[in-house]
Amino acid sequence: MEDKESLKRDRAWIEINLNNLENNINEIKKVISDTCDIMAIVKANAYGHGMINISKKLNSIGIRNFAVATLEEGITLRENNIDGNILILGYTDFSDLEYAIKYDLIQTIVDYEYASKINKLNLNNKLKAHIKINTGMNRIGESYKNVDNIAKIYEMKNIEVLGIYSHLCVADSIENDDVEFTNNQDNNFFECVNSIKNLGYYVGKIHLQASYCIFNYPNLKCDYVRPGIIMYGLYSDKFSKTKIQPNIKPVLSLKARISSVKQINAGDSVGYGRTYIADENRKIASVSIGYADGYPRSLSGKHTKVLINNEYAEIVGRICMDQLMIDVTNISNVKQGDIVTLIGEEKEISAEEISYKADTITNELLCRLGNRLPRIEIN
Ligand SMILES: *Cc1c(COP(=O)(O)O)cnc(C)c1O
Repeated sequence: MEDKESLKRDRAWIEINLNNLENNINEIKKVISDTCDIMAIVKANAYGHGMINISKKLNSIGIRNFAVATLEEGITLRENNIDGNILILGYTDFSDLEYAIKYDLIQTIVDYEYASKINKLNLNNKLKAHIKINTGMNRIGESYKNVDNIAKIYEMKNIEVLGIYSHLCVADSIENDDVEFTNNQDNNFFECVNSIKNLGYYVGKIHLQASYCIFNYPNLKCDYVRPGIIMYGLYSDKFSKTKIQPNIKPVLSLKARISSVKQINAGDSVGYGRTYIADENRKIASVSIGYADGYPRSLSGKHTKVLINNEYAEIVGRICMDQLMIDVTNISNVKQGDIVTLIGEEKEISAEEISYKADTITNELLCRLGNRLPRIEIN
C-alpha cells in the first residue's frame, strides 16, 4: 500500500492533462479583449474532469471567476479553498440562501418573482447576485422586456446585484437563421442592459458568451465569457465548426485494464443476450470498465473502437455494468493488465466520435463519467 498512486490505476481511471487545460485557456484569451475575464464553468464536476483539481489549476494560472450549477458545488469549491467569485447558475431554494451568503457565493436571480420573494426573507446579510435575463432561450431569466421590474431588483434591500447576464440557444450554429436569432438575442440583451444603465443604475458585470459564442461572436463587448466544453478541449459534437477555430486540446482521457484474454471458436457468443456470435475463431479480451463508470451501454453493437498497444480494437457484445469485451484477434501480444484507451486524443476514440456513436454530445458523455473512476493528473 506504499505507492498509493498505483492503486488508482488498478482497474479504470481518468487521466487529466492540465497542460492542455492551460493551452485551451490561452486559446480563449487570444480572442477576448483585455478587459474581459474568463468565468470558468466547472459545474457537474467540471464536466466530469474533477471540479477541485481543475479549479485549483485554474486558480494557479490566474482564473478568478467560476460558475457552478448548484449551491452544493459552490460550497465544495469554497471548502477546497478556491479563490475568487463563484456564481451559481441555477436555482437555489429560499431555505438555503443563507448558505450562499455564508460561503460567499453569488446566486443567479432566475426571475423577478424569485427576487421579490428573496426580498421578503429574513437574511443576515445581503445576498450577492447576478440577474439572469431571458432573451429567447425560455429556460430561466426575467424577460428582457420587463426593464422596470429588472431595475427594481437593483433597489432590493436583500440583494446586492453584481452582474447581469443572458444565455443564447443557437450561438453554436453559423446558419443564417440562427445567426439572425442570436443577433436578436444579443441586441435585446444589450438594449435591456442599457435601459437600466440609463435609469442610473450601475448594472455590474455583463456576460453572455458560452463556448461556441466566444468563437462565433468574438466581438460582443462583455466583462466575462463563460467557456465550458471548449475549455475542456472539445466541441459538443463532431460536426461543429466555429468561425474562429481555436487550437484546443482535449484534457481528459479514459483508460482501463485488460482483465482476461481468451480464444473462442466460430459460433461462440460473447456477453449478455448473445448479441455477438463469432463468425470464425477469435481472440477476445475483457476490459475492466462498464456503463456504471459512465461508458455508455448504447455503444454496444456499433463497432465502437478502443485503442490498445497503439492499435484499434472493436467492442463486441453488450457492454456490461463493470466490464466490456473487445475483439483483439489481429493484435499481437495483448495480455492481462494491458492498458486500453476508451476516450483519447485520437480521432476514432475522441469524445466527439464516442458521443456521436452513443447518440449524445460530449458534454453529456463527460459529465456522466462515474465517481468511482479516479481522476489522475498526468502533468
Ligand atoms: C453550462 C453553461 C455554460 C457553459 O456552456 P458550454 O457550452 O459548455 O460552454 C455557460 N453558461 C451557462 C448559463 C451554462 O449553463
